Amino acid sequence: MTYVISSACIDVKDQSCVSVCPVDCIFSDEVDRMCYVHPTKCIDCAACESACPVGAIFKEDDVPNAASEFTSLNAQWFEEPEVVRARIDALVEQGLAIT
Ligand code: SF4
Ligand code: SF4
Repeated sequence: MTYVISSACIDVKDQSCVSVCPVDCIFSDEVDRMCYVHPTKCIDCAACESACPVGAIFKEDDVPNAASEFTSLNAQWFEEPEVVRARIDALVEQGLAIT
């Protein structure tokens, strides 16, 4: 199990979640439009969920259907960040319904 950051983080990225994560498993580079949770380092403590001002973070089982792609995007970012960045840009361009 892991927590997942979804589209509401895009272009907000205030990193409130980063400062409360006890295992430092939330990442983002300068060029990223959102943050990502490492899928195996997350200990499911839920601290980040309530810290997020835009409700972008969900327990994996509770990710809304409309945002289901973000479960894999969070994990993929640690392997192929440039692919995920391109996908985020494409989703925004398509007028992604922010979830
Ligand atoms: S659930 Fe806890 S361990 Fe997982 S990303 Fe959030 S704050 Fe970090
Ligand atoms: S607190 Fe929410 S909006 Fe801010 S960086 Fe974390 S997930 Fe994104």
